[in-house]
Amino acid sequence: MDLGIRGKRALVCAASKGLGRGCAEALAAEGVSLVINARGEDTLRAAAQAISAAHGVEVIPVAGDITTEDGRGAVLEALGGEADILVNNAGGPPPGNWRDWGREDFLRAIEGNMLTAISLMQALVPGMCDRGWGRVVNITSGAVRSPIPVLGLSNTARAGLTGFVAGISREVAQDGVIINNLLPGIHATDRADSLDKGVAEKEGISLDQARAKRQATIPTRSYGSAADFGAACAFLCSERASFIVGQNLLLDGGALNVTI
Ligand code: NAP
Repeated sequence: MDLGIRGKRALVCAASKGLGRGCAEALAAEGVSLVINARGEDTLRAAAQAISAAHGVEVIPVAGDITTEDGRGAVLEALGGEADILVNNAGGPPPGNWRDWGREDFLRAIEGNMLTAISLMQALVPGMCDRGWGRVVNITSGAVRSPIPVLGLSNTARAGLTGFVAGISREVAQDGVIINNLLPGIHATDRADSLDKGVAEKEGISLDQARAKRQATIPTRSYGSAADFGAACAFLCSERASFIVGQNLLLDGGALNVTI
């Protein structure tokens, strides 16, 4: 299937590794040129070179913390203030116990996993509307539909972003701008490794045992891959996704046990 986005330009945030990298790879494979971001400069540069070499598109790496105004300013400058496609992503908040979290912990989570994405939409979506075409995918979490108690900071911040997207996605669809959220269940990335380590330490079991225990909760009995996640992202960013508005697509191997 031709996704119809060859020659478009995308910003993919937090994309040197993991799910963001999967989205960047899949968009590049469709002929989309990229600005990609992450904090660690060396890994980001290496990712940009590898993606560009594999897919023959321009990939500009912009190192910086996307949850800061400076970080967002740097990517927007590299884009000249315009993009056809925006993939919002950032590292997730740490796990913990709700009794221990203070105001600063909540504000950091809300800044990182809610306000950062909103701020980039505010910067880029008006231009998409003016030009009559745009796509935004926000990487949120399965925790939006089924809360994960130790990730209460994530549950909170991502619920706020989901509410914002529900409203504006319906307002800008008439201008050809399509906004949706992708909700990862457990995927094999560094983030999943660190959550597995947390389970192993808490329960006094090995890392392999912790992984096997979490895999047993998924109907596919496996973790998702960044490549498959990226393919879903590329589809939502495509010409073909023009009638999919304000949806929350859960990619979790069937782990959430619901009928609809
Ligand atoms: P990951 O493997 O740890 O990769 C995170 C990527 O984001 C890296 O490239 C990292 O590079 C970059 N990054 C992190 N914080 C950043 C920041 N403040 N500014 C710019 N770049 C940043 O994580 P992932 O598994 O792909 O997860 C991506 C998102 O999906 C997270 O919000 C996570 O909570 C959520 N999620 C993941 C899963 C899962 O199973 N993997 C499940 C549910 C939700 P640097 O460290 O160099 O900045």
